This record gives sequence, C-alpha cells and structure tokens, in this order.
Amino acid sequence: MNKILTSPTNVIFCIGDGMGFEKVKAAGMYAHGEVGTLSFEAFPYQGEVMTHSADAPMTDSAAAATAMATGFKVNNGVISTALPGDGRELYTLLEHFKDQGKSTGLVSTTFITHATPAAFGAHEPKRGNLAEIAEDYLNQTRPNVLLGGGGNGMAEAAAEAAGYTVVTDRDGLLSLDTENVPRVSGQFGDTNLPYEFDGLGDLPHLSEMTATALKVLAENPAGFFLMVEGGRIDHAGHSNDIERNVCETIEFSKTIQVAIDWAKGQADTLIIVTADHETGGLKVLENNGKGNFPTVSWSTGGHTTTNIPVYGWGPNAARISGVMDNTDLFGVVACDQSGEK
Ligand SMILES: [Zn+2]
Repeated sequence: MNKILTSPTNVIFCIGDGMGFEKVKAAGMYAHGEVGTLSFEAFPYQGEVMTHSADAPMTDSAAAATAMATGFKVNNGVISTALPGDGRELYTLLEHFKDQGKSTGLVSTTFITHATPAAFGAHEPKRGNLAEIAEDYLNQTRPNVLLGGGGNGMAEAAAEAAGYTVVTDRDGLLSLDTENVPRVSGQFGDTNLPYEFDGLGDLPHLSEMTATALKVLAENPAGFFLMVEGGRIDHAGHSNDIERNVCETIEFSKTIQVAIDWAKGQADTLIIVTADHETGGLKVLENNGKGNFPTVSWSTGGHTTTNIPVYGWGPNAARISGVMDNTDLFGVVACDQSGEK
C-alpha cells in the first residue's frame, strides 16, 4: 500500500517502560471505571509490537529502546552501538532530527542516564556505563532538554560547565524562563523520581516536566524531537505492585494529554505512544470500578516476551497497524521509505 509520507515538524515519542496491554487496561479501570479510556487509546492508529532483542526472546530496556531509536536490534544491555556487529555508533532518531536543525529533548521519571533515554542520546556498549552516558549527553548529542532523576553519572557542575541551566526541584522547573533557556538539565533528587502513589514532595510530575520541555523546544521554528518516558511503570511491574503500577500509568496518560493539548490543531506533530516490553506478566481478572484497583494476577518478577501496544496520531501515524517489529518504529518516525510496509 502506498501512503504519502510527510516528515513531521515535531515528534513526541512516548514510552511507557514495561507498559503491556493489561497495564493500560488496569489503569483505565481505576481512572474511569472502564477500559479503553486513557488519553492515547483515542488515537486513530493502533497496533502491536514485537520486542525480542538480537540475542534473546526477552528484551531489556536498553535493547528495546535502541531498536526504536535506531532501527537496529542489538544485544540486551547495549545502548545504540552495533553489538552484535562492528561496535560502531548507531545513528539515533534524536541525532537524525538534530541534524535537521531541530531542537531535541529527553524526559523521564527514571534517573536521566537510565537505559531508555540513554538509547536516544548516547552510545555505549553497556547500559551500566552511567558516567559515559552523561558525558555523551553533555558533550556529544547535547539535547536541549534533559529532565529526570539526578545523580548516577549526571552532576550539576558537569551540566553547568557544558552550558546547561540546571534546575533541581519543581519550583525551579516551573519558574524557568522557557523563552530564554537554550539548554536545561533537570536533576531531580539523586535517583529515580518517587512513585506517584507515594507523592513527589518538591519534585515535579512527568506531565509537568513534559509541559516545560514542550515550551523550551517549541522556541525553535524548525521543530523538535522529544522522547518522554514513564520509566517507573516497569519498576512497579518488577515488584508486582498494582497500586504503584496503575498510578504511574495514569500519570503517563496525563502526560500524553499534555502533548495532545499542545499539538491540537497542528497538522505537523507526530505523537507515538508505545512501550519497550511488558513487565510482570500482568493479567486483569476483575474490574472493581472507578477509584478501586482491579483484581489482578502476576506471573513473574521479570520481563515477558508478549507483544506490546503502539498508538499513533499525526503525520505518518497511518503507518502504524497490525503487528510490527520494534525496529519499524524508527522508520515511521524518521519517515524512512525503505522501512515502509
Ligand atoms: Zn525492567
């Protein structure tokens, strides 16, 4: 089938880490009493995605995010580097759009050097090379916006030395003069952001980080590429914790509503919402109505091999349908003809 390809001016690529179909269901039941009710479930194009990595049926976040960011399957634990292969750096969506003169950004509820954002803004043979990942961000790929948990290789002094304005709490983020901040590094706390369920104290919500990121990035008339990760859906999945899992997924849905509200009325913004893999083997057994957590079962404390959902809105989103491979998403976003199905 021939579809007209239009390169989007702006791209908002949203990843719910560990967000399988049943996570989406459970969150809809709690938030609205019924399934199919999260913000991104109204997107016109939907499909499912296979997640295996180059060396295993069960992917980790590094290999899955690399597949989406570069179009290449790599081994688990690898950050946008050709392994297996010659170990070269794999060109990422963030670099692709930066080279078109667009602004770029990475936002996550994990610490910012964690695997998913790293696969878009760094090149390392191992996801644990946190100091090197921070170095790649600050001195190689230089995203305009880096908002997430702090520490873990990232430091205020290093970001300032690289020309970034540093903010460390919600007040600092919300009072940023977004028209005059070419580069901002949000280092919130010294690890992952707290869970929504537990309260964030003086640290910002994912939806607030994303709203600020959009203001900063929209200053560039050439457009932008923004990756947003709901990173702790995965962590709550690992601990088989339905309360925290649901609340993280609802905040992720709110964040996509922020993106939709920003992009509404513009024909030139592509929003992709997907996951990197499923975590926990969640099954929803019973809807207990709005405001009540559903009755569920879990099958593992690890990841699973099940396909995950993808939702698309905007230019090129029509290429999302049926069962896709995670590497296909690179072509959809980069508007790569060779990847067309
Ligand atoms: Zn995980």
